[in-house]
Amino acid sequence: MKAAAIEAAYRSNIETVDQIKLTRGYYTRNVVAKELASGHLTPSHDHKGNPNAIPLPATFVQDISDLLKERDTTLSLISPYPWPNRAGRTMDSFQTTAWDAFQRDPSAIVSREETRDGKRLLRIAVPDRMTEAACVSCHNNSPESPKRDWKLDDVRAVMEVTKVIEPYLAAAEQRSRMIVLAITAATTVVILILFGVAALFARHEREKRDTDQHVHYLAHHDSMTGTLNRGSFLASLTGAMSRLQSRSRVAVHYIDLDRFKEINDQLGHGVGDELLRAVAKRLKRLLGPEDIISRLGGDEFAVAQTNLQDPGEVGVMADRITRALAKPFQLSHHSVIVSGSVGSAGATVSHATGDELLEDADIALYRAKHAGRACYVVFAPEMRDAMLTRRQLEAHIRDAVAREKFEVYFQPLVRRSGRLDGFEALLRLRDDRGEFISPSVFVPMVEDMGAIDSLGAWVIRNACAAAATWPAHLKISVNLSPVQFRSPNSIAAIVADAIAASGLGAGRLELEITEGLLLEAIDDVIEQLFELKNAGAAIVMDDFGTGYSSLGYLWRLPFDKIKVDKSFVPEEEASQQSVTPVLQTIIGLGRTLNMEVTVEGIETEAQAEFFRDLNCDYLQGYLFGRPMPRGDAAIVILRDLLDEMAESIGSGAVATADETTCLDQVAG
Ligand code: C2E
Ligand code: MG
Ligand code: MG
Repeated sequence: MKAAAIEAAYRSNIETVDQIKLTRGYYTRNVVAKELASGHLTPSHDHKGNPNAIPLPATFVQDISDLLKERDTTLSLISPYPWPNRAGRTMDSFQTTAWDAFQRDPSAIVSREETRDGKRLLRIAVPDRMTEAACVSCHNNSPESPKRDWKLDDVRAVMEVTKVIEPYLAAAEQRSRMIVLAITAATTVVILILFGVAALFARHEREKRDTDQHVHYLAHHDSMTGTLNRGSFLASLTGAMSRLQSRSRVAVHYIDLDRFKEINDQLGHGVGDELLRAVAKRLKRLLGPEDIISRLGGDEFAVAQTNLQDPGEVGVMADRITRALAKPFQLSHHSVIVSGSVGSAGATVSHATGDELLEDADIALYRAKHAGRACYVVFAPEMRDAMLTRRQLEAHIRDAVAREKFEVYFQPLVRRSGRLDGFEALLRLRDDRGEFISPSVFVPMVEDMGAIDSLGAWVIRNACAAAATWPAHLKISVNLSPVQFRSPNSIAAIVADAIAASGLGAGRLELEITEGLLLEAIDDVIEQLFELKNAGAAIVMDDFGTGYSSLGYLWRLPFDKIKVDKSFVPEEEASQQSVTPVLQTIIGLGRTLNMEVTVEGIETEAQAEFFRDLNCDYLQGYLFGRPMPRGDAAIVILRDLLDEMAESIGSGAVATADETTCLDQVAG
């Protein structure tokens, strides 16, 4: 810092010297030389108070030095020559050293630091030379000049400038403080920037981590319930299975809510979503610390036990799940009752992955659903074969739907008199070996596939077309599925089209519906039943007495006929007695409500006799004919017509013209 201050003082001294020399040169050339030439004013060292004199250049310099003192700067011009006006002024050691130095080197600069009166000084001495021709002539011609052989550039004196160093030291100190301050400030700024950058970076990293975590969470969880999604669940399950030495410590429960679709449809998706969350919450409460839960999709959940101590715990957990789901759910605006069906499977050595285990649980779940829901079934290996068969059957049915491989068979219906009244159209489908698959098996599957609409319409058209070729007094009965009433395609319109296309006469088409239909939105069903009646069809309540026996609805619904289910047909005479009062009530009810009564499932003459005695209007069963192809039905019709003709002839009556035409038609 001191060196910097000395350096600054030194530079300042030199600058002062240069300025003085410049000013003096200007003064000598432009003022002194001109005045000398004009003779107006005389340069003199004694100019003060003399109006005809101006300062000599050297005196001019001395005058300047007075001004400089105010700035802690001393200026002096001194030479070893004895000028008269400078008597008594001798050079000190520094100035002598400088003079000697200038003699050796006319361009030397000599400096020295010293302390005087408690002040630290920097003295600089430079050679003062004869720079102007005017100076040379003036000095050589002046009577006062101690030397008369001056030449241009001769060193004639020592010019000294002395400065007090303190201000420079203070300035240097100030500057260094400033520098320190600036460095500190800059360092602080840099640190702050670094901190800022670091904070930004950290925030970015945190946000990125948060985003990554969120993305990771979303990728692995079900956003609705916060449970694992299917993929992550299966991965965890597989992980648990491979980690544990004994597979038997892992089990999975596949859960399906039984009435979820209904709740979703009737109360809205908002309530449906709330219910799913509530279900997840309730299931979570059943879990142990190592168990995992997932919403697999829709209303399906899975729970995995990964630390079983005993195989019996599988059933215990399945039971707990079933019970937990059977309790009402108190949602924000509704109290909802659903139940859950559970399929459970314990892992074995044959299960390589979580998928395989879940598949077996799914098979068990299918069983649980078909066992009436709200229950659980634990998987057994033979179920897999049954499932395989079912899957093959599904594929077969799908193919049959696509390629219209179905047939319609016709089963006769007879009046109490024994005369043919018409036929019931029954769907038939053969398996690959040509054996019939029961419609009770494939119809629900077609319903599940969403194909019953088109298949049902096809049966109606087919049945109407067949019946249109029969004598006009014969009816055709077609079964309808409840699903067809839910369809956006109007069943009444389909029926009306089929009647119109076939030209079937009025009142000849009967439509059989089952009590299951009464579980649908009843007002809508009633409206559609009336539309069907308007389209020209009669309505039959099929399988009466089974299912829900909604007597409450019976009088509200526009039934023309009830068909008593075959389960009411007593197999033996001994059981006739016990069933008689029930049948009498049903038939009496039909009479009261102005409905005709049919009984199906009559296989023996005794059974026929029994129902005739009970005043049943129509009988149906193997006794009168099994479901048969259309060609065989034509033969049955012919035989019936011939029987009637024979009876007529026997009784003296003759067949009507209409019946004769029909006979030709059927025979043809
Ligand atoms: P369903 O409408 O009650 O038909 C009567 C069922 O009883 C028929 O079975 C028939 O073959 C059988 N059956 C008739 N007489 C006797 C008898 O004396 N003894 C015994 N044991 N059975 C008798 P199938 O053809 O197997 O049909 C079963 C059910 O499938 C039908 O019951 C009906 O609900 C449904 N189904 C058949 N065809 C169709 C259809 O085209 N559409 C719809 N939606 N369902 C149909
Ligand atoms: Mg039927
Ligand atoms: Mg029936």
